[in-house]
Amino acid sequence: MQKTTHTLQDTAFNALLDHYKKASLRISAIWLLLANLGFVLFLFGRHQFRVLLDPNADVAVSGPVLDNLALIFLVFFIILLPVLRFIRSRTPAMILAFLVGLFWAVVFHFMLASDTQQQLVFPLFCMLIFTALIALYPTMPILYSFTLPLWFSLFFHLVLLKEDIPILEIAAMIVVSALFESARIMLSRWFVLSVRRECDNQLLVSKLDNLAHYDPLTGVANRRQLDNQLEQLIAQTERQGGTFSLIMIDVDYFKKYNDHYGHQAGDTCLVGIAECFKQVVRQPADLVARYGGEEFVILLHSATADDAEVVAERIRQSVTQATIPHALSQVADTVTVSQGIMQWSPGMTSLELLKRADGALYDAKHAGRNGYCVG
Ligand code: GH3
Ligand code: MG
Ligand code: MG
Repeated sequence: MQKTTHTLQDTAFNALLDHYKKASLRISAIWLLLANLGFVLFLFGRHQFRVLLDPNADVAVSGPVLDNLALIFLVFFIILLPVLRFIRSRTPAMILAFLVGLFWAVVFHFMLASDTQQQLVFPLFCMLIFTALIALYPTMPILYSFTLPLWFSLFFHLVLLKEDIPILEIAAMIVVSALFESARIMLSRWFVLSVRRECDNQLLVSKLDNLAHYDPLTGVANRRQLDNQLEQLIAQTERQGGTFSLIMIDVDYFKKYNDHYGHQAGDTCLVGIAECFKQVVRQPADLVARYGGEEFVILLHSATADDAEVVAERIRQSVTQATIPHALSQVADTVTVSQGIMQWSPGMTSLELLKRADGALYDAKHAGRNGYCVG
């Protein structure tokens, strides 16, 4: 039982975690794409920045390949912006993130090959990976799809292409990578923790809701839930027209049952009887409620008294077929119920309706029990 509860909690938690990951991605992917768009614009403007910083700079050295690449990706990003919200599963998102990462990896490659632009690569790399971290930390595979090409591009240039190993640059890379990874772990822990709290709260609310609206013994609705639903149903039927019916049910000779079999057996008997009621009504439209003690009420939506009589007969048969022995009953060898049916008519309050159903139940008792009367 405990294990089942844990599995259910885990399933609920995993579903919620998945939901929040998708929700956060929907918001942050647009922001990340806009940030990348900004970086691409920066790529275009790099000549102007250089001229601003150094009026004697030779603008011509900046390769046209980069400009063409930037132009292609500018168009690609602009097309991607409206398309982004249609991407709902992880694999296309990973492919997309990888393509964008690959674009920057190629950009780095050209920048590192140019003496005049090498110094721009490291700040751009840091800005890219940390904006990606902010946007994508809940979904590690997508984050890595974006950042791995960047890392690989720098590593390739620093370690494999250089003749002398640049210790200082490699140390800076290691520090930035360690910062990135530790921040990612920290942020995703907070994310998981907040989703877990949300899940615990939702479970607590549903438990409190159960306690407030359901009978702990039989699992059917309690008196409070019945009162609420009855008021709602009256208001709704007054507004929209139509009708509905109510059946009030009482177990026959239940005091004798308790006296003979004990209170605990009485409780088990009530659980079995409630089960019979649940099986004969249309769920979830109709409502089975424990009115109090060994009395139950069933609300039948859009049902006339004739319809309710059909249900009452089904109830009588179902309880009989449950064959719960009752040695002291004066009407049968098994437990039976008596029922009072009342159809609602316009202007009737819930109190009146219940009172008249109770009157019909009283008639059924006097008519010999194990049957039903219409009020
Ligand atoms: P009748 O056929 O006229 O309805 O007779 P009855 O004995 O069923 O009616 P009465 O109202 O005298 O007795 C109802 C009994 O139901 C008395 C009470 O001990 C028992 N009862 C009420 N609530 C519970 C419950 O939650 N568990 C158990 N085991 N018994 C209950
Ligand atoms: Mg009673
Ligand atoms: Mg009774």
